[in-house]
Amino acid sequence: MVIFVDVDVNEIARLGRKFHWQRPPECPCCGAGLWWHGFVLAYFDHLPQAVWIHRLRCPCCGAVHRLRPKAYWSRFRSTTRNISLTINRFLEQDWQPDIPNPRQKLWWQRFCRKARLVIGLGWEWLPDAFDLLISWGQIPVSNVIQSG
Ligand SMILES: [Zn+2]
Repeated sequence: MVIFVDVDVNEIARLGRKFHWQRPPECPCCGAGLWWHGFVLAYFDHLPQAVWIHRLRCPCCGAVHRLRPKAYWSRFRSTTRNISLTINRFLEQDWQPDIPNPRQKLWWQRFCRKARLVIGLGWEWLPDAFDLLISWGQIPVSNVIQSG
């Protein structure tokens, strides 16, 4: 499971494994205390190299949790803000200059598909669909449809 934390990715990159992570108070699965469980590498858009992200393990249920900066959705290397800006520019039929075009196109295709599948709205409602999907707990540019 991913646990979102309020951290600065640039600080993590600068300090590496010496970055001082705050340990989450409890396991989101069972409520027990968590133990540090090493690091994994993660890539973020504006950084040339991967950064070390801490993991935790629950001694009760055995779940392994990965910390993730709040500014990023799971499995996305761009910030949620940049993705939102990209979709808004697409709505105005323009490209975001600092993000590769194939990635922007992929987000746009996924967004349109998800808006149709989850909300069932037509083309004219797309400007509102991004925020609506987020308010329903969905990642608007993901292939995954979150349940409940
Ligand atoms: Zn647990």
